[in-house]
Amino acid sequence: MSSLEGLLERSASGGRLSFDEGVRLYREADLHALGAAAHARRLQLHPGNTVTYVIDTTINYTNVCNVHCTFCAFFRPEHHREGYTMSHDRVLERVKFAADQGATQIMIQGGVNPELGLAWFEELFARVGKEFPQVDIHSLSVSEVIGIANIEQMSTEEVLRRLKAAGMRSLPGAGAEILVERVRKRISARKVKPEVWLGVMREAQLLGMPTTATMMFGSIETPEERIEHMQVLRELQDETGGFTAFIPWYYVPFKTPLRGSEATGLEYLRVLAVSRLFLDNFAHLQASWLTPGLKLGQLALFYGCDDMGGTILEEQVVHDAGSTNEATRRDLERLITGAGFTPVIRDTYWNLRDDVALATA
Ligand code: SF4
Repeated sequence: MSSLEGLLERSASGGRLSFDEGVRLYREADLHALGAAAHARRLQLHPGNTVTYVIDTTINYTNVCNVHCTFCAFFRPEHHREGYTMSHDRVLERVKFAADQGATQIMIQGGVNPELGLAWFEELFARVGKEFPQVDIHSLSVSEVIGIANIEQMSTEEVLRRLKAAGMRSLPGAGAEILVERVRKRISARKVKPEVWLGVMREAQLLGMPTTATMMFGSIETPEERIEHMQVLRELQDETGGFTAFIPWYYVPFKTPLRGSEATGLEYLRVLAVSRLFLDNFAHLQASWLTPGLKLGQLALFYGCDDMGGTILEEQVVHDAGSTNEATRRDLERLITGAGFTPVIRDTYWNLRDDVALATA
């Protein structure tokens, strides 16, 4: 059996870890040694001194949802007096607000609203594409795609094909939580099973839509289940190569039906470092500052992350759960510079956008 040092050395140079080896590193390795190995791997994948970020916004177009996840404080059931759905004009206003600030990525995401069929999204995306051709529509989630497929009695592949034709160029990795059936049953019983989530992702990737992968941790899952989540993502990535980045983030338990205690900063860094080492076939690891905050987001750059995520101008879902973190472009650039790196703006597909000026330039 390899020593911990041997596992760290192998994975720091891109060697594959088995499930048991991933669990062992997670449970037993010293945090600083894990961070050093993850940082070495990040520098091997992305030599040089740059850290990327994207100027983006999240427009939460509806909070009506029939999925009722226990970790979610954002949704309202159908016919609730606090339920809302934005008009297309209202969404377009918010896109304009973001585009005026240089946004290149628009994430239109919301609840699974049984009133909104495919035509509603096709019309919206076509308008966004026509009026703001400079932005990429990186929108919806597997849950919303399945919701539309159910309304239309259509396959998810056909829904994705139609959404793509309407201008939705990529699919965010939201809604995966932990891709382990025991966890799904406990925290989001109405959500689709892990293999269905993976199946819709596969369909999107085979249609040529890049996707990201997320992991919402810190609810009821064990370290073994976190590695299991990474393992099924790694297997799909071996098959399709369709994930651009992995984005682990921890849930905020303050205003949600599922109560618990928030993950600690050290736990966050451990998850990042193990992710960077275990997901040997993922190009990018993103620091998700939205729940751990900007200062920990900065530290994440030494635990395997090469990307600071986005400005997420108007996000509501995580804020409704109790997060108070916000970031301007200037904030993100200062954090990156302060850590000794050079900030570079990218788009959804990791093309570097030197046509968009840095806020601190
Ligand atoms: S997390 Fe998404 S799918 Fe779950 S209840 Fe909230 S809005 Fe609905």
